[in-house]
Amino acid sequence: MNVLVVGGAGYIGSHCVRQLIAAGHRPVVIDNLIFGHRPAVGRDIPFYDVNLGDEGAVGRILVDEKIDVVMHFAAFAYVGESVNDPLKYYFNNVVATLQLLRTMLAKGVKKFVFSSTCATYGIPSKMPIVESMPQAPINPYGQTKLDIENALKALAVAHGLSFAAFRYFNAAGAAEDGAIGEDHNPETHLIPLAIDAATGKRPALQVFGTDYPTPDGTCLRDYVHVDDLSRAHIAVFDKLSKPGTGLFYNLGTGTPTSVLEVIRAVEKVTGKKVPYIAAPRRAGDPPALYADSSKAVSELGWKIKYTSIEPIVATAWKWHSTHPNGFGKQ
Ligand code: UDP
Repeated sequence: MNVLVVGGAGYIGSHCVRQLIAAGHRPVVIDNLIFGHRPAVGRDIPFYDVNLGDEGAVGRILVDEKIDVVMHFAAFAYVGESVNDPLKYYFNNVVATLQLLRTMLAKGVKKFVFSSTCATYGIPSKMPIVESMPQAPINPYGQTKLDIENALKALAVAHGLSFAAFRYFNAAGAAEDGAIGEDHNPETHLIPLAIDAATGKRPALQVFGTDYPTPDGTCLRDYVHVDDLSRAHIAVFDKLSKPGTGLFYNLGTGTPTSVLEVIRAVEKVTGKKVPYIAAPRRAGDPPALYADSSKAVSELGWKIKYTSIEPIVATAWKWHSTHPNGFGKQ
């Protein structure tokens, strides 16, 4: 398949590009490089520095590159920022995505794979989360993703769009060979911050909340390896042949891991202490979020390679220890 990877220079998109090649597909990347990194995409891969909402440019790429399916990873994804600047999130995550979809339909490209999020569930009443549970996001970021999920359903009915929306839990880790990995600015994610605290690159890690109703008082999350995530996106292609197909899948390992357990895993893998201090709860953090991903496993034959936190952290460490400045100059 010729696959347009929108946001292919970002964290999850760039890993997906490599998995597409490994699976024998032909990725074409567009990325406006606001958050993406040009070096994250191999020089031999067709690359366009354009905005996903640029209907003229994207339309030409769809036709010229004979695109069969579009994967969309390009979104703003800082929950706190979405609360403070919702228009930024609605314009990029909703408006520009609708423009992308309109361009696709105009050019007759009707297969779409969408990055959604467990944030669409809000604060679920039960754990683990199954796809059929109510979706009630508690911040604009989650709402923008849910808005697109709903638009996709309508486009499937009206125009025969076939789509899969993947609700990610906590994407983590890096490519097995250490060549690409996580490089966010600002970095807000636990694993890279814990690694940086261990190496002394950043000050002590703040543990946001130590009084949650969880076994060790810290939040439980479901960390899923970025290559495992990517493989699910490719495994779904076969299901998109029938026009009007609409699929939703959770992607997580189903294993709840606490913040303190992540810290211990980082210490074990790096052989260094992670200095940390207890800090107040972070606004909007539910105590526990973990997935029931059995639907993806049974319907897509999705195989989770990284089932526990230590091997995931080991891949992150390989990337961070060899690229202390991320994709910048080492
Ligand atoms: N966390 C923390 N200190 C940090 C960053 C994150 O204690 O400096 C906690 C956070 O409260 C959450 C978990 O680590 O319980 C994972 O947070 P992250 O930002 O990595 O992902 P999120 O769950 O927000 O998508």
